[in-house]
Amino acid sequence: MSSLNEFELIARYFTRPSSAQKQFPPMPWLRQGIGDDCAVLSWGPTALAITTDLLVEGTHFFSDVDPHALGHKALAVNLSDLAAAGAQPRCFFLALALPRVDEAWLAAFSSGLFALADEHQCVLAGGDTTRAPAQGEAAGPITVCITALGQIEKGRALSRAAALAGDDLWVSGELGGAALALQWRRAGTTDSIKALDSEQIQASMRRLERPQPRVLLGQALREKAHAAIDVSDGLLADLGHLCTRSEVGATVHWQALPRAQALTGQPVTQQQICALAGGDDYELLFTAPTAARADIEAAARDARTPVTRIGVITHSREVVVLDDNGERIHLAQRGFDHFA
Ligand code: ADP
Ligand code: MG
Repeated sequence: MSSLNEFELIARYFTRPSSAQKQFPPMPWLRQGIGDDCAVLSWGPTALAITTDLLVEGTHFFSDVDPHALGHKALAVNLSDLAAAGAQPRCFFLALALPRVDEAWLAAFSSGLFALADEHQCVLAGGDTTRAPAQGEAAGPITVCITALGQIEKGRALSRAAALAGDDLWVSGELGGAALALQWRRAGTTDSIKALDSEQIQASMRRLERPQPRVLLGQALREKAHAAIDVSDGLLADLGHLCTRSEVGATVHWQALPRAQALTGQPVTQQQICALAGGDDYELLFTAPTAARADIEAAARDARTPVTRIGVITHSREVVVLDDNGERIHLAQRGFDHFA
């Protein structure tokens, strides 16, 4: 078995050096390829942001998930990548592998999918449908792959690579609710998780199953923010991706972090694991010059999405989290990696 993690795997086998592609003519229209939330293609007078995300039963969702919620989430995670590029969603493609035709399931799935698509005026433009093995050990899993396209003015896409030392670090919404729901669904109350009341369970399950892509905020941040990424793998993991691409570091203040209400009452270590390293939040993490604070707050008000300043971008190439006393917080994990 190899010890390659998810991102080493992509870098080693799918990110080709330009020398390997000498046989192709240069492709000036491909403005941004592997390494960001979206690829960006120049297309006539505008640009297209393109992203694809795969959800696999048993890995990304429980087999008994509400199919309406699954339809919502399958599109939401893609719209979240478009949001991180500041793009306006336009259309999407849906590839499905199903072990059986269950019409009640399909009706609920498609209704969840189209409710979110309609909200963002994003049109289903094609896809592919196939049967997955229905019996035996190889039965299923249900697999949903969506590719979404968004439009953006040429040269205005947000990317992970534009953070500058001295920038403020901001995050939208709140963190940690989805990870808490996941842990609670997997294990229930344990030594490390205190019992949740029914309101906390409902609120955190909603965060896990029906994330709200920050599409309006992403568009409002164009030309105001420097760099952006959506938080899908965990705040520290995604901040790490942003810092690596921008060749900078960051200091995050734990005290400033907007945490899900459902985390109140949980042990501090649990709160830190969920809010700093928990995945599935689909908030926007972005950097902006300190002079843009009023502009950022105005953009957030226009997008009706709360934003919080949680730290600064540094020269150090290191991501550091400080507690209330200014001491470093060390966590065993930084976020989700499929192969770590
Ligand atoms: P996201 O979480 O925004 O979907 P990731 O951080 O998972 O993006 O992926 C990092 C980059 O690697 C992205 O640009 C993505 O398009 C690219 N990538 C992931 N898997 C593959 C693959 N199998 N082949 C080519 N590129 C890939
Ligand atoms: Mg992303």
